[in-house]
Amino acid sequence: MGRGIKPDFQFLSVTDLDADWLRARRLGGLLLDMDNTLTPWNAPAAPAATLAWGEKLRAGGIRTCIVSNSRKQAKVERVAAALAMPYVYRAGKPRRGGFEAGRRILGLAPEEILVVGDQLFTDVFGGNRARMRTCLICPISPTEFIGTKILRLLERAAGRPACFQEPGGK
Ligand SMILES: [Mg+2]
Repeated sequence: MGRGIKPDFQFLSVTDLDADWLRARRLGGLLLDMDNTLTPWNAPAAPAATLAWGEKLRAGGIRTCIVSNSRKQAKVERVAAALAMPYVYRAGKPRRGGFEAGRRILGLAPEEILVVGDQLFTDVFGGNRARMRTCLICPISPTEFIGTKILRLLERAAGRPACFQEPGGK
């Protein structure tokens, strides 16, 4: 089962990742979760700071691709277009297929890729299974899909403390 649900790195937000830090660890690309990683859940777009961050990363030579479990292609496409990133939707994380599709888009080997997301059982577990490195961030907003709320209870049971970028979460 490999590394299970243990992430290699933990940050508050995706915007804490920068090109120099990634390159120093021989990471050339990111596979990015969308909901509550790039956009608050149910929000139509990424915040301005995240758009600026994406531009800076690309200027620093880091490749990026969104890998989302969302079934709403129109939404994923809109968020991806604003960030000028390619995307995989209906990714089926934690299964490997979506990560492999993203890897091919990046054109990198698994060991050169960092999977970034806010969930232990989809993003981190799946990224570890795909033999990529993994980075857990705090979800942007405490407002979430009911299925995610159930996964949060399991995360607490697995020892992950609650954290949210916006106030109000438990
Ligand atoms: Mg998420």
